[in-house]
Amino acid sequence: MQNMAERVLAGDRRALARAITLVESSRADHRAQATLLLEDLKCAGRQAQRIGLSGTPGVGKSTFIEAFGCMLTAQGLRVAVLAVDPSSARSGGSILGDKTRMERLSRDPRAFIRPSPSQSQLGGVARRTREAIALCEAAGFDVVLIETVGVGQSETMVAEMADLFLLLLAPASGDELQGVKRGIMEMADIILVNKADGELKATATRTCADYAGALRLLRKRPQDPEGFPKALTVSALEEAGLEKAWAEMQALADWRRDHGHWGRRRAEQARHWFEAEVRDALLARLDREPVKGLLLSLAAQVERGEISTTAAAEEAQRLLDVQMHG
Ligand code: GDP
Repeated sequence: MQNMAERVLAGDRRALARAITLVESSRADHRAQATLLLEDLKCAGRQAQRIGLSGTPGVGKSTFIEAFGCMLTAQGLRVAVLAVDPSSARSGGSILGDKTRMERLSRDPRAFIRPSPSQSQLGGVARRTREAIALCEAAGFDVVLIETVGVGQSETMVAEMADLFLLLLAPASGDELQGVKRGIMEMADIILVNKADGELKATATRTCADYAGALRLLRKRPQDPEGFPKALTVSALEEAGLEKAWAEMQALADWRRDHGHWGRRRAEQARHWFEAEVRDALLARLDREPVKGLLLSLAAQVERGEISTTAAAEEAQRLLDVQMHG
């Protein structure tokens, strides 16, 4: 374990990959080792810029990450890419499983790409992703990109573990603008309208203006300087607008650091995840025998009308108390 910690700290990508495999394991002995490893590495106090990126399939996420990632590594930065795809367990695939989609970046010695773990439970995915981020930070990566598909609650989850949240959108007619859920718009720090090239360029520019207008209508957030959140056009394919997008991210990040929002947000996120994990652990207890069986039998009694809901719930609490203290 000590050896693994040292190698991760030295930035060894193979050790990092193995450490991520360890935190992804649900075996009890692996969990214990993972917890020790993460505690060990925390002492190094390294932090990366955590950037969440969301967008529906086909919008150009892999193309963007490849181009954007290569631009950053060319500047000497080390870039890790993690994927969160809660649907991967169902589809059997995973959004970064096909690494050929980011061929150039995956060959880059300053980059590290990790596909999504195949897990069905969002809670499990959240913990593993957070731990993978922590490992990448310990390994000295400057930027950790966390990619997610625009499905279900994965965006909220990624936004809750990122310093900056990017929403990648496609050029669209005005009606389609309504298709982006308000909640997702509200999480975005920067909206990137991709595919602003060739025939799509004019539409992309119009779409970008529409979103900029929509963003201005949202309630102002304390963590934003004047002009944010904002919408920009990019072309991942032609690698256009990427430097401007990075400059805007840096401007926002610097402002948040200078005004104390950066650290405060991280502290709030840490607290949020602690509470979520305690809640998950409590819920998991309900699913284990003998509690599970006792609860099922109480539920059956409620269904048959043999006991009132309230009395059954109180009885359930009593059972749990016995379990906890016994
Ligand atoms: P993902 O599913 O979000 O990862 O999307 P991909 O990166 O796989 O891209 C989906 C399709 O859009 C591919 O055919 C890409 O070549 C294309 N694409 C991605 N970015 C751009 C872009 O900036 N301009 C144009 N014209 N096409 C793009």
